[in-house]
Amino acid sequence: MRYTGSCHCGAVKFEFESETIEKGLRCNCSICRRKGAVMSAFVMPPEQLKISADDNALAKYEFGSCIAKHYYCNHCGIYTFHQTFRKPGHYRVNLGCLEELDSTALPFEVFDGASL
Ligand SMILES: [Zn+2]
Repeated sequence: MRYTGSCHCGAVKFEFESETIEKGLRCNCSICRRKGAVMSAFVMPPEQLKISADDNALAKYEFGSCIAKHYYCNHCGIYTFHQTFRKPGHYRVNLGCLEELDSTALPFEVFDGASL
């Protein structure tokens, strides 16, 4: 299944192919509980995720160990995807950015990132 996503203003876009998404993931770490986003339960390697962004649209936030890279749109502020702490260089995406599904209708698990 091909999925296409974007931030709210459309300056950051991404697409990937994966199995049909039937569940999401939330996390209770200090940044995820503030974002409140439902993320992909799976991680994908960089070659699976095609990212296109207008000049200067893609901003990155890092904290603590700076292993995870949290990306968001510089214009509208929406979190689109991040490189994970557990698998550096691999991505989870914000399912709320996808056109093809309703992220609020998905069941989700909660990862205990706060205990890392
Ligand atoms: Zn935007």
